[in-house]
Amino acid sequence: MKAKEIRNLFIEFFESKKHQYIPSSPIVVKNDPTLMFTNAGMNQFKDYFLGNEDPKFLRVANSQKCLRVSGKHNDLEEVGVDTYHHTMFEMLGNWSFGDYFKKEAIEWAWELLTEVYDLPKDRLYVSVFGGDAGDNLEKDTEAFQIWNGIVPESRIIFGSKKDNFWEMGDTGPCGPCSEIHVDLRSEEERQKVNGFDLVNNDHPQVIEIWNLVFMQFNRISDGSLKELPAKHVDTGMGFERLVRAIQNKSSNYDTDVFSPFIQAVATKSGMEYGKDEKTDIAMRVIVDHIRAISFTIADGQLPSNNKAGYVIRRILRRAVRYGYTFLGFQKPFLYELLPLLAETFGDIFPEVAAQQDFIAKVIMEEENSFLRTLDNGLKKLDQIKDEMAASGQKVIEGKIAFELYDTFGFPLDLTSLIARENGLSVDEKGFASEMEKQKTRSRAAAEQETGDWVMVGEDEGVEFIGYDYLESQSRIVKYRQIKDKKGDRFQLVLDRTPFYAESGGQVGDQGWLQSEAETIKVLDTKKENDLIVHFVDRLPSKEDAVFSSKVDGEKRKLSMNNHTATHLLHAALKQVLGEHVQQKGSLVNEDILRFDFSHFAKLTEEEISQVESIVNTKIRENIALNEQRNVPIAEAKNQGATALFGEKYGDFVRVITFDKNFSVELCGGTHVSSTGVIGLFKIVSEGSISAGVRRIEAITANAAESYVNDQFQLVKEIQELLKNPRDVKKSIEALIQELNELRKELESLHTQKAGALKEELIRGIQQVNGTNLIIAQVSMPSADALKKLAFELKNEVENVIAVLAAEIEGKPQVAVLVSENLVSEKSLNAGVLVRELAKEIDGGGGGQPFFATAGGKNLSGLPSVLVKAKSLLGQKD
Ligand code: ATP
Ligand code: MG
Repeated sequence: MKAKEIRNLFIEFFESKKHQYIPSSPIVVKNDPTLMFTNAGMNQFKDYFLGNEDPKFLRVANSQKCLRVSGKHNDLEEVGVDTYHHTMFEMLGNWSFGDYFKKEAIEWAWELLTEVYDLPKDRLYVSVFGGDAGDNLEKDTEAFQIWNGIVPESRIIFGSKKDNFWEMGDTGPCGPCSEIHVDLRSEEERQKVNGFDLVNNDHPQVIEIWNLVFMQFNRISDGSLKELPAKHVDTGMGFERLVRAIQNKSSNYDTDVFSPFIQAVATKSGMEYGKDEKTDIAMRVIVDHIRAISFTIADGQLPSNNKAGYVIRRILRRAVRYGYTFLGFQKPFLYELLPLLAETFGDIFPEVAAQQDFIAKVIMEEENSFLRTLDNGLKKLDQIKDEMAASGQKVIEGKIAFELYDTFGFPLDLTSLIARENGLSVDEKGFASEMEKQKTRSRAAAEQETGDWVMVGEDEGVEFIGYDYLESQSRIVKYRQIKDKKGDRFQLVLDRTPFYAESGGQVGDQGWLQSEAETIKVLDTKKENDLIVHFVDRLPSKEDAVFSSKVDGEKRKLSMNNHTATHLLHAALKQVLGEHVQQKGSLVNEDILRFDFSHFAKLTEEEISQVESIVNTKIRENIALNEQRNVPIAEAKNQGATALFGEKYGDFVRVITFDKNFSVELCGGTHVSSTGVIGLFKIVSEGSISAGVRRIEAITANAAESYVNDQFQLVKEIQELLKNPRDVKKSIEALIQELNELRKELESLHTQKAGALKEELIRGIQQVNGTNLIIAQVSMPSADALKKLAFELKNEVENVIAVLAAEIEGKPQVAVLVSENLVSEKSLNAGVLVRELAKEIDGGGGGQPFFATAGGKNLSGLPSVLVKAKSLLGQKD
């Protein structure tokens, strides 16, 4: 049975049991401070379990893209090394939201595995929660009895809290679970050892495939458990593992999910899979990681230097490094797998195929830049080796290995490998302790404590009225305290609110809650899943009072100008640049709008002014807002509405139109009632933020007006500086020309002076042991000039050793030059020498054996450099 068919059968099976199929939510999570990536099928249903939202269907089935590379679930280090943990994998699930419970969940799981997929019953083991004294929990006898009706007791295992009690995080919904494991060993091995003893023991052929979670508790922050009002079923089955069990393979990578990819990598590297454990691991890492990277980029997360973007960058680098070290890939190669990936997932996850060229470009650029980093790291490592050879050291310090890792992206195993090749070793303990230090630092920076919700009023759903009103009467439904680096604050949920919560790039509203007794400032409004959370720095004295909640209308108005202008900009870009323009990020606040989009070239001045002019024309046309709420998603798409990849849309959406032939977008943001109020639109910058992604920053209304005025003012001031010439441009051009001529003149004076200096140095040569020694302090305008002087000396004097010290722009600089023949004959090394001398100026440096330079902090040490050089090289005064 092929993988595709296996996936379809899963969905069909649960559809036949009255489940609704729901597409996967994006792999990149928005609006959830506790999670960066989707790590389980249940993430998109979290609000149902928490009771924040009513489920639309009571029974659901899906295949969710998951990524387990950070936070509570992090399998990264296993991936490739073993054959059944992936970074990105599909989790098949069936769900009951307050509908069926353990009996149906267990019986259907068994029916599907043994009757539809025909897995041999005697190779399946199941585990049941065995109770936990600490949590005061009984064993799950209910699940046991249901299972025991189907499988003999000899294949039922009672498991600990670690394996059989599922928790979403430190707090939140949880409950006992029951796992299904499959024993894929050969008959012969099964005779020798009972599979029962290998379950949950990290045996590569006895693996968990399905976890049935019975959600019945909520864990609150003091650690105790409360019964949930309605009980749920949440199951998760690793698709790739299921396919392996059904196709009866000993590795996930041997199934048709991965084998075409393995084949492609093997062909490209000219090596065979299955011959050598090291190259096999490298191939597995690559074919696993390319999926994770591509899917996250498709869902809108670009590799970058922080948070989710950094996680992706690290995964990509891990793949590049394995390819580089073990498969000999010195050039970008990952991106070449994109066509195969797009084709493989075309039907179930079309987002990759739809953006194939863009994703490939992003990956290729990342690969290129990391390969350059690797090169630089290798050079740095070479230098370290030289230094160690000079000082006779054999162990690379942990600190240095960590610096290589941290600034050059050089992983420890690579450093160790190269060290070993050179007869050195690495202080791995020292490395680990540096790593720990860094982790502690970043943990302290990110720490946030979140208290439990305290209920004040009835929780009957929250009404958002901010599209129509900026003020309303509100009551607090619940609140909780949070502590982070911004200090102590509270989060409030109101029964009804005009406050817009940050999303779709638009910032959250600020404003006030007023009662007769007091006024409390609302600092920010954010979404947490679908909850609207207001941030305040103190609680009202009377929590259950009726407040009048008021949005800061001035700020909101400016944000609305910018948000509508963003839509106009988006449409104008499509007109000017083409339909390939895809939104890749946006920020809208009261000051500015920022729009990131896919496009491969820098915008020309002409394109920019075309875009500006289209937007300004649309502003002057004063087009009225057409806002449609609750449009069925299919109908919205029919209207040509632009939907974004990586955005989670419900079945009903809001459509914002400004001229149906121009701008139609799915959007939850707030907009002006007609475009005229925006007044003026001005682009203030255009640039690249990463491969294939451009960023435009623009301003509107008052800000645009001030900007234009400032530019006029600037021209006026320049005119005055130039004493009001008739033609400003011409007179600046004349100034520049004059400056260039003066520069040339100065340069030739410097050259003459340097010539004289060189002659003087040559006259002062001292001969020591057959070498021509030049040790002197010289006056030089730049480091380049110093280098030039040194090289000229080398060309003119044989067997020369020159140590030149200079003050350059207020800083000490030393250059050391050694004739090439002396390097080998006398084993002299300019790099070693310069580092020794640099100590006198509190500095450091390096270079090649025949030429090296150093800079420092201590100018007054220059004379000592000369003294030391003389004594080291044996010159007499
Ligand atoms: P394991 O102990 O094997 O790491 P788990 O206990 O972390 O699994 P769950 O969190 O229960 O797994 O996830 C449900 C199912 O998802 C598992 O039964 C397994 O089939 C699959 N799964 C979990 N982690 C991975 C992974 N990293 N790669 C592929 N499949 C996975
Ligand atoms: Mg796991």
